[in-house]
Amino acid sequence: MPRFRCPECCCGPAVVLHPPPGATPICFRCGSVLEKQPLVKAVPLLVLLTVGTALITLSMPGLFTPQPLPPQTKPSATTV
Ligand SMILES: [Zn+2]
Repeated sequence: MPRFRCPECCCGPAVVLHPPPGATPICFRCGSVLEKQPLVKAVPLLVLLTVGTALITLSMPGLFTPQPLPPQTKPSATTV
């Protein structure tokens, strides 16, 4: 799914186009040639996200499990 973004209309949404081979997609707003967005850049981000999520998930139990209290030496009801 090729995505294109206009370099002039900054911050605009990336448009998905299916231009015929050899044709240059042109921005419908300003008429400048659209730049193709590489999908490769999404991969490191995805890896980072996955690793980050895994790390957070792994550290979750340690964060939320209450620390085991030392065994209290509770004197049983001793009637003197
Ligand atoms: Zn534009």
